[in-house]
Amino acid sequence: MSQPIYLDYAATTPVDPRVAELMMRHLTLDGTFANPASRSHMPGWLAEQAVEGARRQVAELIGADPREIVWTSGATEANNLALSGYMRANAERGHHLITSTIEHKAILDTASALEAEGFNVTRIAPQSDGRISPESLREALRDDTVLVSLMAVNNELGSINDLETLGTIAREHGAAFHVDAAQAPGKVKIDVSQQPIDLLSLSAHKAYGPKGVGALYVRRQPQVKIDALIHGGGHERGMRSGTLPTHQIVGMGEAYRLSSEQFDIDQQHLIALRAQFLAGLREIEGVHFNTDIEVSVPHILNLAFDGVEGEALLMALRGIAISTGSACNSASVEPSFVLTGIGVSRPLALASLRFSFGRFTTIADIDSALSELRHALSALRA
Ligand SMILES: *Cc1c(COP(=O)(O)O)cnc(C)c1O
Repeated sequence: MSQPIYLDYAATTPVDPRVAELMMRHLTLDGTFANPASRSHMPGWLAEQAVEGARRQVAELIGADPREIVWTSGATEANNLALSGYMRANAERGHHLITSTIEHKAILDTASALEAEGFNVTRIAPQSDGRISPESLREALRDDTVLVSLMAVNNELGSINDLETLGTIAREHGAAFHVDAAQAPGKVKIDVSQQPIDLLSLSAHKAYGPKGVGALYVRRQPQVKIDALIHGGGHERGMRSGTLPTHQIVGMGEAYRLSSEQFDIDQQHLIALRAQFLAGLREIEGVHFNTDIEVSVPHILNLAFDGVEGEALLMALRGIAISTGSACNSASVEPSFVLTGIGVSRPLALASLRFSFGRFTTIADIDSALSELRHALSALRA
């Protein structure tokens, strides 16, 4: 059987071949394989140089100073470090954390763990377009609020938050602003030198880098204090110990460099793919848009179809790799909490599918996916 057409880029992207090639040069004896913390020999210095080069590339994509980048195992760990690390380090100033009901589980479950430790959490409900309104944030802020954590781009809907406005409100109330930006690189421009952001989580594998590596941006001026979660050799200025995975880190650096270099090309490609997909959808009856395309990234479309169940449709669409809701929640049969969170009814949420495209998707892929979709829908609706 031929490979299905991959339309699940929001779950993960394939590694760009240019990134894979560079990573392979940092693994074997003839490459830059040494421990970047080895200070006593040339192979160690070369590995350190590679890591620091990648740190500059990641910093550059978001307008940060390289010293503000802390390597982690991904955005999940970065989110844990941001929330638990900040709340614990700043506990004498207050115990209140604000987030939203439609964040990634890495935020929501960390927030629940913090509640069990004695912290207080407010979870704001989003608007029906998937964005957090400034008014709802203002209402949630309290005198003891020390941190606000909201995502840049929602992974199930594609909705983009207004980080300038939300961050400004948080800071006016003396709270720090954390952003889960796992879905942003190459899709939405981030510039922490201009935007009111104090902590920001990144992942490599949503932007054509490898899985298993990410970073937390930690502002230096004014300095943001966080407690480490992982203790050991004092790597990453004491904020995250553990031998740095040179090959993963150079992969993330190169992926981000490419995302920056071809931002406009990627963006135009995604817009063209969406236009093609939307034109095809117009010929299909009973399509509901959970994604508000006016306020969302071009490559994520969350849709529901009248008269069919999501699972049945997914089974019928064997030639397309897509997901119901989010990969992170695919173990459960419950409707997506993100969809019910923006007010989508339970039956419609259960009939919803997320299509997401990327750099390697072609117009022909979109056409094939549309024709499969038309056939599956007419068979199931008959
Ligand atoms: C994928 C994702 C994460 C988790 O990132 P990992 O690097 O896979 O741990 C966190 N938040 C959002 C919004 C994501 O899309």
